Amino acid sequence: MTRFDIITIFPKIFDSYFNESIIWRAQKLGKIKINIVDLRKFSTDRHKKIDDKPYGGGPGMVFKIEPLARAVESIKLKAKSQKLKTKVILFSPAGEQFNSKMAAEWARKYDQIIMIAGRYEGVDERIKKIIGNWKLKIENLSIGPYVLTGGELPVMVVVDAVSRHISGVLGKNESLEEERLGVGVPIYTRPEIFKWKGKKYIVPKVLLSGNHKKIEMWKMHHKRKMKREK
Ligand code: SAM
Repeated sequence: MTRFDIITIFPKIFDSYFNESIIWRAQKLGKIKINIVDLRKFSTDRHKKIDDKPYGGGPGMVFKIEPLARAVESIKLKAKSQKLKTKVILFSPAGEQFNSKMAAEWARKYDQIIMIAGRYEGVDERIKKIIGNWKLKIENLSIGPYVLTGGELPVMVVVDAVSRHISGVLGKNESLEEERLGVGVPIYTRPEIFKWKGKKYIVPKVLLSGNHKKIEMWKMHHKRKMKREK
């Protein structure tokens, strides 16, 4: 089982995505566990404040170090007693670009992935040193070359992409596209001919031929074409 611990100031954001479809089923089957940690619970401030102005000036707010350190430590202490192999992920548009290879490797290597979903201007940099002192693997991750308002979507992307690589998460009909001629290959379903506003839209003949060798070659051709067009 892989455990995902998610530190956030918006715990409810995850409800709908994690409680539907494959990710929901993976939790029910005990293949993954998702633990949402509300950062505000670790604030000692009377008003549960977790952010403050940046030193050196500038707009926006920054996640304060103390509640963050407390939150990660509380998760880590539980993990230590269970001797889990843990990785910690911080998110930033300037981080290393996430990809399928990382997802597969992390699914294989780690029992626990702790993620900090940042907001505003980000999180106090010193959290990296604190986590480093605990000798935990830490990654500064980007899910793409654009700036989002928060780390919640990146968290969902990582949970989804890593979970797909955990044995038993995908059913037979959903087997890993990465391992077959799935990604980028055009796909069709019934009807064979779709008539729409005076025009006919047809399925390529080869897919109806029943000739598996020819179908495979057709798929490979499209996959190569897609690579060339990139
Ligand atoms: N100034 C911050 C930096 O340079 O990392 C970016 C702040 S961004 C507005 C707020 C938060 O959204 C980040 O802390 C991060 O958690 C998340 N975020 C935004 N874009 C992202 C991306 N492309 N990949 C991963 N996380 C992202």
